[in-house]
Amino acid sequence: MPELYDLLDLAEDASPDEVKRAYRRKAREHHPDAGGDEEAFKAVTHAYQVLSDPEKRARYDRFGDDGTPGSRGGQDPFGFGGAGFGGINDVIDAFFGAGAGAGPGGGRGPRQRTQPGRDVLVVVDLTLEEVVTGVGRDLEVDVARGCDTCGGSGAADGAGPSRCRTCGGAGQVQRVVRTAFGQLATAAPCGDCQGAGTTVTDPCTDCRGEGRRATTRTLEVQIPAGLEDGDRIPVRGEGEAGRQGAPPGDLYVQIRVAEHELFVRDGRNVVAEVTVPVTQAALGGTLQAPTLDGEQVEVPLPAGTQPGDVLTVRRAGLPVRGGGRRGDLQLLVRVAVPTGLDEAQRRLLAELAELRGEELRPDDRGLFSRLRGAFQR
Ligand SMILES: [Zn+2]
Ligand SMILES: [Zn+2]
Repeated sequence: MPELYDLLDLAEDASPDEVKRAYRRKAREHHPDAGGDEEAFKAVTHAYQVLSDPEKRARYDRFGDDGTPGSRGGQDPFGFGGAGFGGINDVIDAFFGAGAGAGPGGGRGPRQRTQPGRDVLVVVDLTLEEVVTGVGRDLEVDVARGCDTCGGSGAADGAGPSRCRTCGGAGQVQRVVRTAFGQLATAAPCGDCQGAGTTVTDPCTDCRGEGRRATTRTLEVQIPAGLEDGDRIPVRGEGEAGRQGAPPGDLYVQIRVAEHELFVRDGRNVVAEVTVPVTQAALGGTLQAPTLDGEQVEVPLPAGTQPGDVLTVRRAGLPVRGGGRRGDLQLLVRVAVPTGLDEAQRRLLAELAELRGEELRPDDRGLFSRLRGAFQR
């Protein structure tokens, strides 16, 4: 069981407000409806359930007991039950609004009257070099924003929406349907207010009473260093505007890191191959290696370097999100065996082989050994 505070990226003295904010952020990141991982979502939700409850949190702080069976105490002292997540829908509702995840028209009761605007996802491509430095980006975003003419109210006179007369503000209308089993009353979203429960009597002509208009705008986003492919940065309140003054959704910047022509990412390290002639591998020397910082660094090549050896340049890898030590650049050595020898070269190599007693003899079993790590790279 990972530390509950770690799951939410929190310090142990985090305030209730910080716990809430951290969970909100994590839950959106991992929410299965947003393509997140369900197990991760359950884990952060569990962490939130413990850390947001003063009693459970105090107990966890003192005894490390997080309420899951098998943790200290053993027998579910907090009543989460075996499945542990009976209350998960309540938690989701609290943060995403009732009906989140139920799909369009999904039937979980009447829609909230102040239904916020939708969240928006924008993908940003980064190079590995930009992952090192972080980068500012101007994003062109096409999304409805509040109408300037009516100040977002949707009403020409700025009076704001009033209760829908068709449905009396309920957002839905009862319909009686005759069936073979008798009359059935069903609820359907109100057509006059689209389920919001409110209308404007004198609609703004620029937004036709919606209080929002399709807008293309440029948003400047600062992307921190150390992000990974698939990371999301929330930008609060920059999603779709809500209808008739309802709160806006959030905008999420999803990071996509492009493949680099030389470097492959391995956690915070980056790995590249370097091919050296067999003579230099034997004699040793110095290499000039490119780095993600755009500089060349001198890397010593020890005499007797073998194929598969790794030369390490400390701190020339990637930074970690939120700071910390940079990773390393690792150069995986390949050794090139010369081909197309001319007569003089062939003679020199033959002489070297003789000096070292390296002629091949057909009956030399010492040449062979059990396979060892040949498939590792
Ligand atoms: Zn308007
Ligand atoms: Zn209505």
